[in-house]
Amino acid sequence: MKHEDKKMDTIIAYAKRKGFVFPSSEIYDGFAGAYDYGPHGVELANAIKRHWWRDVVNTKHNVYGLDAAIVMNPKVWVASGHVGGFSDPLADCRTCQNRIRVDKELGKLGVEADEKMSEEEINTLFDKHRAEITCSSCGSKDFTAARAINLLVKSNVGDFSNDNSNPVYLRGETCQGIYVNFKNVVDSLHPKIPFGIAQIGKAFRNEISPRQFLFRTREFEQMEMQFFTKPGDDDQAYQDWKQDRWDSWKSIGISENNMRWNQHDNLVFYAADAWDIEYKFPDYGFDEVEGLHMRTNYDLTQHSEHSGQDLSFNDNGDKFIPHVVETSIGVGRMFLAVLSEAYDEEQLEGDDSRVVLRFNPDIAPVQVAVLPLMKKDGLSEAAKEIFKDLAATFRTTYDESGSVGKRYRRQDEIGTPFCITYDYESKDDGMVTVRDRDSMEQERIAISDLTEYLQKQIK
Ligand code: ATP
Repeated sequence: MKHEDKKMDTIIAYAKRKGFVFPSSEIYDGFAGAYDYGPHGVELANAIKRHWWRDVVNTKHNVYGLDAAIVMNPKVWVASGHVGGFSDPLADCRTCQNRIRVDKELGKLGVEADEKMSEEEINTLFDKHRAEITCSSCGSKDFTAARAINLLVKSNVGDFSNDNSNPVYLRGETCQGIYVNFKNVVDSLHPKIPFGIAQIGKAFRNEISPRQFLFRTREFEQMEMQFFTKPGDDDQAYQDWKQDRWDSWKSIGISENNMRWNQHDNLVFYAADAWDIEYKFPDYGFDEVEGLHMRTNYDLTQHSEHSGQDLSFNDNGDKFIPHVVETSIGVGRMFLAVLSEAYDEEQLEGDDSRVVLRFNPDIAPVQVAVLPLMKKDGLSEAAKEIFKDLAATFRTTYDESGSVGKRYRRQDEIGTPFCITYDYESKDDGMVTVRDRDSMEQERIAISDLTEYLQKQIK
């Protein structure tokens, strides 16, 4: 099926039906801006995170991992500028009280606007285009003025006042945990500059209108890496990381036809350059999935000033505050891109058709399914032995219910790249049938060679 023919509603319904993504607390009518990963979804999300960690941390000699706490001293968020200025412009529909994000509505009209504009700037644009903006819920055009709403989510962790007068914040981005640990990493590992610190973890934002499924949620997971360089070396590092991240999207299975770069026109005052990788989602069109930013020495300087700690780097007597190249992705957005890319409805011979998820075998929730041809005559027992063997190396499942044809289709539907069938001949020749998800072709492989064979296919 052509990418252009895919429908997001179909993919969302499919993701629920097949155990990938469920609405949060659905039996209580759900909770806006939160989703749960089901049994196949959690495997896919974990595989995506492993792929990122391997590309960004494990295969780089100078990038170190970290896992910082979600709750931090609230001063962190004052220093980072989030308490003062982490906001989106919101307007209410006066007829039905529905809320809109004014910058996004203006964006849909092709008007350059974003959350970094002042209230005054955004309202000037809003007033100019009010006649073209309609409430999606009731059709009215009667909106209040836009006002900046802070996105930080407050918590009462450790606050025993009755009125939550000493709130802490659930982190609005994971990278602040990296900046506040910069000195700890330098003092404990003594890295040479340049080096990076990476982490994967939950972040929270009080998004005004969570929408588009996993694309914009209030609780989400980020994969972020800050690469610290000497001043002046950040430009080359930025070019290198841009290439690296682009290649990583390709290697996870996204076609270059469905990706593009978008440079920010309106930079925050401290940034030297900022580009997003955008993915062409079915129905939604191109939108941001990853941000790569040149953040100069802003964050470390802020934290130095607010904490009173010296966060400079001493490079053989040459002392400076490092410059930062950042890459930031939401796991949910990458998940949605990967799922959209993999989803395929295939017309087979005659009237037959199938839904198949063409995941890269490296990230498929189930990589190998072991199926006995029949449940009897000792075939199950022998197949279970193979399952046990393969499960030590691959994400493997075992299925003996229904006809083999039906079982193949079930595995296609969740994107399992290889099905292994143990049949009557296997008993005599020590071989099994390996069926390929995409070509549906089958070949006989010796049981003793299976692990090596599959390892070659699942890189
Ligand atoms: P947007 O303009 O779409 O709100 P942003 O520019 O605020 O995004 P960043 O702060 O740069 O996003 O966050 C980095 C990455 O984190 C984004 O590229 C995206 O993948 C992810 N992300 C940000 N906000 C959300 C969210 N509400 N839900 C899911 N993922 C998100």
